[in-house]
Amino acid sequence: MSLLSVRRLSKTYPGQNRPAVEDVSFSLRKGEVFGLVGESGSGKSTLLRLLAGLDDPDGGLVRISGKPMAGPKDRLVPGHPDVRLVHQDFRLLPNVRVEENITYALRGYDAAYREARLNAVLQLCDLQVLRHQMPRQLSGGEAQRVALACALADEPALLLLDEPFSNLDPLRRIRLKRDLAGIVRRSGTTAVFVTHDTADALSLSDKVGVLHQGRLLQTAPPHEIYNRPATVYVAAFFGHANVTLVSSLQKIARRPGVLSRFGLSASLCVRAEHVRFCKPPEADFAARPLATHYLGAYSLHEVRLAPGVVWQVSAPPDFGLPKSVFLQVDWEKVSGLAG
Ligand code: ADP
Ligand code: MG
Repeated sequence: MSLLSVRRLSKTYPGQNRPAVEDVSFSLRKGEVFGLVGESGSGKSTLLRLLAGLDDPDGGLVRISGKPMAGPKDRLVPGHPDVRLVHQDFRLLPNVRVEENITYALRGYDAAYREARLNAVLQLCDLQVLRHQMPRQLSGGEAQRVALACALADEPALLLLDEPFSNLDPLRRIRLKRDLAGIVRRSGTTAVFVTHDTADALSLSDKVGVLHQGRLLQTAPPHEIYNRPATVYVAAFFGHANVTLVSSLQKIARRPGVLSRFGLSASLCVRAEHVRFCKPPEADFAARPLATHYLGAYSLHEVRLAPGVVWQVSAPPDFGLPKSVFLQVDWEKVSGLAG
C-alpha cells in the first residue's frame, strides 16, 4: 500500500479564475523522496499546504497509509498528526535553546519518549554540540538542521519541505543539501520537497514531479524525466533540449532512414549533449553556427540546421567552430514527444 496517495486534487483560491492546483494525482511508497519542481506560481506551495492538511481542497482526496486526511474544516487543530511541514524560514522558537525547540515539538508525549527522541534526533541531525545554543547563534545551515530535527522529532509518517535550500548560503549550498538529504534518507521518512531548481530535483529525489500551471505534467524517476520527458515543457525545463518535428528533420537528414523509428507527426527531444560535431561522412545534418555561449564547464553552440531549425550543441569550452559544421546525433538517447 502507498504511504501517500493523492487523487485528483484541485484547489482554486477565492476570487481567482484559474485553479492553483488542478487534478493532481500521485502516490509514494514508504521512504520515498519526491521532488516537486516547477516555476514560481506553478502551485507548489499550494499543493504542499493541501498535503499538510492546512488548506481544504475543492476536490480530490489525500490518503496517508490508506486513511483519508481531514482538512482544516473537519478538524479543530489545523494540520495532520502524521505530517510535518518544514517552512522555508525555519520558524524556530527564538528565546529557547536548540534542545528546548526540539522538546517543544515533543510536548504531549511522556518523558521517556521525549528523552529518547531528543537524543535520537540530536544524533541524526548532528546537533549534539549545538544543543545548548540559542537560535540566533546558529548559521543558516545549522538552523535548518534544527528545524528538521523538530519536524522529525515525533516520527511523522510524511515530511514536507518547502524550498528547503532557498535560504542557505550559496557557497555552502551543495554541502548543506547533501547533509539535509542524508538526514532525510537516514530517518527513513517519506518526504516531499519543493524546489524550483531542476538540478536539486534530479539529484536528490527518487521520483520527480513537474508542476506547470497547477498541473502535474509528469511523475517519474529522475533519469526518466530527463531522458523520456512526457511533454515539450518537461523536455525544455530540464537541461538544453532541441525540440523539432520529425517531418522537419526528414527533409534535411543526410540519412533519413535513422528517423524511421519515430512517427512522422512526432516531435523529437534531442539534448544538446547528445549531438556532437563530426566529419562529413558521419554526419546526420549539416549546420551553420550562429552563436557560442561560454558556460565554464562547457560551451553551448547555437547552430542552424535549416530555416526555423536552430539547435543547441554542447561541446568542450575551448571548441572553436568553422563557418559550417556537421552534426552527429546519438539516436539511442533521443526520445519522441507527444505534444
Ligand atoms: P508556487 O509555490 O509554485 O510559487 P503557489 O502555490 O504559491 O505557487 O501559487 C500558485 C498560484 O496561486 C499563483 O498564481 C498564486 O498567485 C496563487 N495564490 C497562492 N496563494 C494564494 C492566496 N492565498 N490567494 C489567492 N491566490 C493565491
Ligand atoms: Mg512557493
